[in-house]
Amino acid sequence: MERPKSMLCKGLLLTDPEHPPQPGWIRVEGGRIAEIGRGHTDEKAEVGGAEVILCPAFIDAHIHLPQIDSVGCDGLELLPWLEQVVFPAEAWWGAGAAASMTRTAVQRMVREGTFGFAGYLTSHAQAGAMALGMLASGVDGARLRFAAGRVAMDRNAPAALIDEDIARARMNPTPGVALSGDGLGDRGEVSVNPRFAIACTDELLAECGWLVRKRAESGRPIVMQTHLSESVPECRWIGELFPGDRDYTSVYDRAGLLTERSVLAHAVHLSDAEFELIAQRRAVLAHCPIANTFLESGLFDLDRAREHGVRVALGSDVAAGVDIAMPRVARAMIEIAKIRKMTISPGADVPKPSEAWSMITRGNADALGWSDSGRLEVGAHADILALRVPETWRDGFLIGRLLYNWTSDLIVDRVVAGARVARVDGVS
Ligand SMILES: [Zn+2]
Repeated sequence: MERPKSMLCKGLLLTDPEHPPQPGWIRVEGGRIAEIGRGHTDEKAEVGGAEVILCPAFIDAHIHLPQIDSVGCDGLELLPWLEQVVFPAEAWWGAGAAASMTRTAVQRMVREGTFGFAGYLTSHAQAGAMALGMLASGVDGARLRFAAGRVAMDRNAPAALIDEDIARARMNPTPGVALSGDGLGDRGEVSVNPRFAIACTDELLAECGWLVRKRAESGRPIVMQTHLSESVPECRWIGELFPGDRDYTSVYDRAGLLTERSVLAHAVHLSDAEFELIAQRRAVLAHCPIANTFLESGLFDLDRAREHGVRVALGSDVAAGVDIAMPRVARAMIEIAKIRKMTISPGADVPKPSEAWSMITRGNADALGWSDSGRLEVGAHADILALRVPETWRDGFLIGRLLYNWTSDLIVDRVVAGARVARVDGVS
């Protein structure tokens, strides 16, 4: 890792995907963008070059670090897939694999240009604290920006994954669902992650809600991540487990879990009343198109979410999502919208590539409450990609060409938190 006090990047600045990149330079200091200039400079730059495109790195709004090696176990619907693929992987993480899996996850994100994420660990408190420490201090020189936390779950899963929350509830009347958020620096924050209502009793959801409320009162609102309405059998089971609630979304609302820092993954089978409630609470839906296809969960209705004024982010959802590269997640969102338009919803709007690109950079940052990430602006975290593309791509279709031809080979340099990460998992 190189960490110069000040670093100059120069090239074609892609500050707004609606407009062609323009010659310019970026001075980075102390991990942030200190200065941006337009035009050419003769000053020697550490990163970039006249023909190199500089753009903000990507942000993933939904990923499971312990599932990093579980991609591709096909043929199962959500609930059996959790049982047969995910729970064994998460038990493995708790049994000693957390450090190596955290490292692998960071390497793969960095390779594909993702320098910020909202993620899940497992329910193991000690392994989780270790993983958070690793993330905060950096893996191979890459200090990603993150909101991550241990998963809270106390039923309908193997003992190895629910024992800690059950024991805590018995021993300790003080809510302890989250790990301490101190000491993670300016790049990391702890989130509270009740897995989904099937795996959480009312008491555990209430405990998570208590923490959300306490943190809001303290002026440091916490990110809350959970899953919502992913598959039809899941929704049916929720109806049986919570017969007194109007719908799935109301279960979380009753526990006080819906705030503008809540990230609800999937939301494939929502009623209008649920979309309305989510819009009222200003909570964010993490649309995970690749995961929804892989598990055959359904086709997210982006149009309807937008009609209701719901905030939408994009997530890889590795490992249900079989691709960690955010440009390919963005492309999948466009493809799902096209499929809806060609089949069930002829009037559907299809997002333009520039909109999709905005979502995986500035949009996801804003959704996570990081208004100083995902953009090339003075004061923003210096998470920058240098891309080399064929000259013929630099026309009005540039962003579509990037999304549809994406490969990490396009990245010639990576600046993570103001530090140049020169070697990434075999990529030099
Ligand atoms: Zn997920």
